Amino acid sequence: MEYSPPKLKAKSFTCPYCQTISQQNWVYFLWEGRTVTHEHTKFSRAQCVHCMEHTIWVGETMYYPDKGISIPPNEMMPASVLKIYLEAGSIYNKSPRGAAALLRLGIQILCKELGEKGNNINDDIGNLVKKGLPPIVKESLDSVRVIGNEAVHPGQIDTEDPATVFGLFELINIIVEYMIALPAKVTGLYGKLPQGKIDAIKKRDV
Ligand SMILES: [Zn+2]
Repeated sequence: MEYSPPKLKAKSFTCPYCQTISQQNWVYFLWEGRTVTHEHTKFSRAQCVHCMEHTIWVGETMYYPDKGISIPPNEMMPASVLKIYLEAGSIYNKSPRGAAALLRLGIQILCKELGEKGNNINDDIGNLVKKGLPPIVKESLDSVRVIGNEAVHPGQIDTEDPATVFGLFELINIIVEYMIALPAKVTGLYGKLPQGKIDAIKKRDV
C-alpha cells in the first residue's frame, strides 16, 4: 500500500476516510463561511473524489477529521502489540515521530512475544530471519533507516517523514503474518492430514 500524506492544496493525497490515494477538489472560504475563488484565505476544505468526504483545513493544518489513520491490523496480532499499533494510528497525522516511537515499541514487544530479547531491533529481526522471516523484511528495515539510525541513537527510530512511518505499520503486519499467521495456517493444514500421511512425513524427515 502506498501512502501520500495529506497536504494543503495537493491535487491528491491518501484520504483519511477511504485510505486511497485520490484526487482532491479544493474549496476556499472565509471566516463566516462564504466561499471564495481566490486562495488567499486561511480556511479551506478538500473533497475526496473517491468517497466524497471532506477534510477541513486551517492554514496548512488539517483539523478534521481528527482520526489518524487506520491500516487494518493483521488478525493474528497479539493484543499487547495491537493496543500500541492502534494508538500509533490515532496520533499519526499529528505526530509522525510520536507514532514512529510507538511503532518501535510495538516491534520490540512483538519480538519479545516471538521469543527474542526485545532490546535491539536489529539483532532481534536478524534472529527472526534465521527462524523464517524473509530477509527482505530486514532489508526493508534498513531502507527505512531504522537500523541505520541506531549507529547514532541506539535503538531509536528518529523520523518525521509520514511516508516512512507508514511503512512501519506495514512492517509490523508483515512480521505478524510470517511469524504467527502463516505458521498457524500451516499447522492447521498439517493437523488435517490423515495420520498415515503424518507418519510418512515424520519418517521422511528423520
Ligand atoms: Zn476518500
